[in-house]
Amino acid sequence: HHSPNDLNAFWMPFTANRQFKKQPRMFVAADGMYYTTNDNRKILDGTAGLWCCNAGHKRPKIVEAVQKQVAELDYAPAFQMGHPKAFELANRLIDIAPDHMEHVFYTNSGSESVETALKIALAYHRARGDAGRTRLIGRERGYHGVNFGGISVGGIVNNRKFFGSLLTGVDHLPHTHLPDRNAFTRGQPEHGAYLADDLERIVSLHGAETIAAVIVEPMAGSTGVLLPPKGYLERLREICTRHGILLIFDEVITGFGRLGAGFGADYFGVKPDLMTTAKGLTNGVVPMGAVFATAEIHDAFMTGLENAIELFHGYTYSGNPIAAAAGLATLDTYRDERLFERAADLASYWEDMLHGLKGLPHVIDVRNLGLIGAIELEPIAGKPTERAFNAFLKSYDKGLLIRTTGDIIALSPPLIIEKHEIDRIGETLSEVLGQIE
Ligand code: PMP
Repeated sequence: HHSPNDLNAFWMPFTANRQFKKQPRMFVAADGMYYTTNDNRKILDGTAGLWCCNAGHKRPKIVEAVQKQVAELDYAPAFQMGHPKAFELANRLIDIAPDHMEHVFYTNSGSESVETALKIALAYHRARGDAGRTRLIGRERGYHGVNFGGISVGGIVNNRKFFGSLLTGVDHLPHTHLPDRNAFTRGQPEHGAYLADDLERIVSLHGAETIAAVIVEPMAGSTGVLLPPKGYLERLREICTRHGILLIFDEVITGFGRLGAGFGADYFGVKPDLMTTAKGLTNGVVPMGAVFATAEIHDAFMTGLENAIELFHGYTYSGNPIAAAAGLATLDTYRDERLFERAADLASYWEDMLHGLKGLPHVIDVRNLGLIGAIELEPIAGKPTERAFNAFLKSYDKGLLIRTTGDIIALSPPLIIEKHEIDRIGETLSEVLGQIE
């Protein structure tokens, strides 16, 4: 009975967040780099939705593929039978994944990919007769979604402390214990391997034979675009290998071209045992995630499943036809428009724009990689998050969508962005930073 513009009617039944309730903002259409609001303004998308619409919005091939699929085969059971596109998409994913990845498990989100990867890691060890390996290690400031496994290994204390029931046997690698609180992201070469050695300390505390896996984002995205110092991921890989611990890369943001390479694993040249993905896999159009696994892990997991006939894993919507069709059209778009290469080509122009903001009021750090970026602001004393949120509101008024996390502005535009749009992000943000308290 309510029109979409009757916002009072909308608030209560839907769980939009507190900030939204104070000042509702609605998108009613999108095309390419731009959203259209309910008051008919165009907003430049500086965040690719929620780090997901890597090919931009309303891309013709994707729209057409989804429309065609829904009219042809709406749904097929995910077990005992299938449909060709789920297999076709798996092949295409393996084609673009790092060479050692040979299988995918479908999920419906980043959070589900994380839960699935953690289960695969435990089941892998158990199938090999290593049932004692159940401990998991995450990282402070790691983000792995909102389900129980993900918040347990995740490094955001507020997301954990509210809930009594979490996974047991979880440790977190410190963000940094060096005097400079930004030592991690400042990337001093001598610090990378040193900080990763925290893993050795955790391993020797509990014994390697109790530890199943380490999960990290190759570059933490949603907690503030935290670039790993040189040598960090390499050392984690080396320690994991030496102790028989699986290394999981959560590539939900870094996957599908964001860093100017297919995956973070490619960009950093480090080979994880499992990779979790979602978001860019279907360009954000239909919910879908995928966990990538090596043949060895896949085979052990599947053998374990077959031997334990009472054990089951999979989702009703795993590899569903609409998502698979969206995924295939998305991969076609990435390939035809060479969008991963485009992200790499634009990276230095992007970097120049961001670093041009360095001297502006409130700015204490600027970070970037590929087509992702962060501008860290000095928090207002006693009011953390307020300054960045003001920047968000002002940017939105000026027609630019940014995302904030704490007092960090995060940017991750669609990879189709043009140089003049990068310029506009820079101009808008310099106005905004000059105008906010
Ligand atoms: N892992 C990472 C690294 C993420 O960035 C996110 C989402 N921002 C997730 C997991 C969770 O994904 P979703 O919101 O699709 O569940």
